[in-house]
Parts: sequence; structure tokens; C-alpha cells
Amino acid sequence: MAAYQTMKSEELLSLKSELEAEYEKIKGMGIKLDMSRGKPGKDQLDLSMGMIDALASDHCFVGEQGIDCRNYGVLDGIVEAKRLLSDMIECPIDNIIIYGNSSLNVMFDTVARSMTHGVMGSTPWSKLDKVKFLCPVPGYDRHFAITEFFGIEMINIPMNEEGPDMNLVEKLVSEDESIKGIWCIPKYGNPTGITYSDGVVKRFARLKPAAEDFRIYWDNAYTIHHLYEDEEKQDHLVEILAECEKAGNPDMVFKFCSTSKVTFPGSGIAAISASKANLEFIKKQMTVQTIGHDKLNQLRHYRFFGNFENMKKHMMKHAALLRPKFNAVLTTLENELKDADIASWTNPKGGYFISLDVRKGCAKTVVQMCKDVGLVLTSAGATYPYGKDPHDSNIRIAPSFPTPEELKDAAHILCVCVKLATVNKILTEEI
Ligand code: PLP
Repeated sequence: MAAYQTMKSEELLSLKSELEAEYEKIKGMGIKLDMSRGKPGKDQLDLSMGMIDALASDHCFVGEQGIDCRNYGVLDGIVEAKRLLSDMIECPIDNIIIYGNSSLNVMFDTVARSMTHGVMGSTPWSKLDKVKFLCPVPGYDRHFAITEFFGIEMINIPMNEEGPDMNLVEKLVSEDESIKGIWCIPKYGNPTGITYSDGVVKRFARLKPAAEDFRIYWDNAYTIHHLYEDEEKQDHLVEILAECEKAGNPDMVFKFCSTSKVTFPGSGIAAISASKANLEFIKKQMTVQTIGHDKLNQLRHYRFFGNFENMKKHMMKHAALLRPKFNAVLTTLENELKDADIASWTNPKGGYFISLDVRKGCAKTVVQMCKDVGLVLTSAGATYPYGKDPHDSNIRIAPSFPTPEELKDAAHILCVCVKLATVNKILTEEI
């Protein structure tokens, strides 16, 4: 097949009728598939069932520090959970607080606290005329939803293969005191799968923000979520907390993580890691907010894994289940779209997503066409602040939940829709 852009009108018209026939055929098949959210498959959830048995009624519920985990107490997490998660996100054990079941909740709290009480003594953001956040795009819709909820203005920052456009980040952050944060998914990003290069992380650590209360929101949700066991095929991320300290900016970063996609989403344990000064400030809010989080779940996680080495092994079981799913989608995209030269997509080494860019002005149409034949994708635009993709070209593919067989069908349907929407677009542009 030739590149669509080089085709004559007659060729495009004949292709259009072929694709329309194929689309009608698919419509008649009564398909019901969902590639919209990054949910683990049932087989992945089954991997952690042993954790349910890790605490039975005849077990000991007293942790290493002599604390009965069935009772009140321990605001910032039991030491066993701190050890596990600090290993997971590579920070000293004294630089972590264990929270409840969701890192998104921790991020929400962090922004909410800054609105009402500022950041380590700064003016509460709610008292300022304007507060802005930088948003590398495409990014995670739920990050953007938090900042939108609090009326924080969001500024798009383009992503390239090494991470966000750092020339732009440095310029904006150093010039504008109303910029208080940047959302980052530094490893196997949602939706690009990109991991920030060493150079990008080092530039982040060396930022010179105009605002003293500027923080980097480093959401390391996919820190150990490799798709391959071979280290050569894994991405490596420079650890930013230590890097910030070296650069004389020890308080500039908040790191977030959880075991949502290690054990059970919604029933994992989450954490924040930051400088001790930041953590002390956070704990002042926490003491009012809660007597402590779910220590039984913390203990259960610890008893199930024992140590970080076992956690890494567990992640390889996830990888074995996820790899064929990613491959099913990537192979179909390659076979059906490459020669037509009408789209580009990422080929991540980890995480939960593939990012697909179609011709400008086609993403919404493609997503709607898929929906009309029973394939649900993440809404077009969701990967941008305010749900507005300025190019209407980005589509997030979440291949974790369906089976590899279903994914082959889903990816084929997606390709037919991409082709048909593109042909229609080229034909209307030619008129
Ligand atoms: N951060 C990112 C980048 C995610 O992709 C997700 C889930 O898809 C989350 C956070 C949600 O994490 P949690 O379940 O810990 O709230």
C-alpha cells in the first residue's frame, strides 16, 4: 500500500469505499471491547491473591516496632512498608510517608493543602490572584482534573523523546512567580511510555524557579513496571530527590508512588517522598486529617513480598502477561498503518499505555467511529488539560485489560477507523 498523501483522488475514493465496506462489516459484528483505562487484567490481579492469605486470624499482627497493626497509631506508616516503598522509589527510608490506598489522593491532598495553607510557610495559593501549573502533553487526565478542580491555570508543555521541552520549562519557571508546579510522569509515562533522559532529570533538579513554593510533582507511578526482564531493554531514571539535593534545591520535589499496579488497584498502598522539611510540613496536616492509614494493608503487603527483590520478581510476572498484549496492538499498528504513513505511535518498554498520533483534526472522529462499532477508547482530548488537544491528533491506547485475542480485533478496528477518517480528511482538504 502506498502512502495516502501521495495517492490521487480516484485512488483515495476507491480506498474510501473499500474501507466503508469494511467498517459496515465490523458494525454488524456486535463487538463490545474496551481499551479506555489502564486497568490490570484479571490474570494480573490473580498474581497477588496470596496477599489476601498473608494475614489470617491466627497470624501475629505485631510489626517489627512492636506495634499491633490492628489498633490505632503510626501516622506515617510502619517501618516494613516504608522500607518496601522507599526501595521501590529509591529514596532513604527517612524521606517517605506511607499513605492509604491511592497516590492520586495524595496528589490531590498536596495541591489542596497548598491552596489552603501554602507550601512550607508560603502564602496559601487561594489568596493569590493567579496560580499556574505546567503540564507536559500528552499527559494524564486525572492530574489535569486536580489542577482544573482548584481553578489552577494549566500551560501545555510539549513532550519530546527525552521528556518535556526543558528550554520552555526553564524559561517559564524562572520568569513567572505564579507558576507553582509541574506535573511529571518521569518513567514509562502515561500515555507516551517515555522515560525522561538523564539530562532532563538533571535540568529539572537545577531549575531556578521564581516562586519559592514551586514544586515538581514527580508521579513515579510506573517506576518498576518494565515489560522486559533484560536490563538492556529496561529504561533507567535518574533519582531526582538526591539530584535536587546535590543541586542545592532539596525541597523542590514531591515524589509520588503506589502499589496500585503491583498488587490491587484501589487496594494498594501509596506514598509520598520528599525532603524532611517538606515531610514535617505535610505531617502537620496529616495529624489533623487522620490517626493513621490502614496498617493491616501495609503489613499484608510486607508479609506477601518480604523484600524488594521479591517485588521485582512479581513485576516480571505482570510483564509476562502484559507483553503479548502490547505486542498484539503494536504488530497490528505496524502491519496496517505503517505503509500508509498516516500515524505515529510509541513503542514503550514499560508502563500501561501506547500513545497514537493520527492526522491533525482526526482523533475525535476516530474515537467516535470506534465507539459506534462497540470499541471504547479514552476520549480524544483527555490527554490534554481541559480535554482540549490543540491538534486533535492524540489517542491513548490502554492494552492491559482485554485479552491478546481481543486486542488484535480491537487494534484492527482502530486501524480501519484511522484509515477511513484520514482518507475522508484528505479528500475534504483537497476540495
Ligand atoms: N498516576 C498515574 C500516572 C497513573 O497512570 C495512575 C493510574 O492510571 C495513577 C497515578 C493512579 O494511581 P493510584 O491508583 O495510586 O491513585
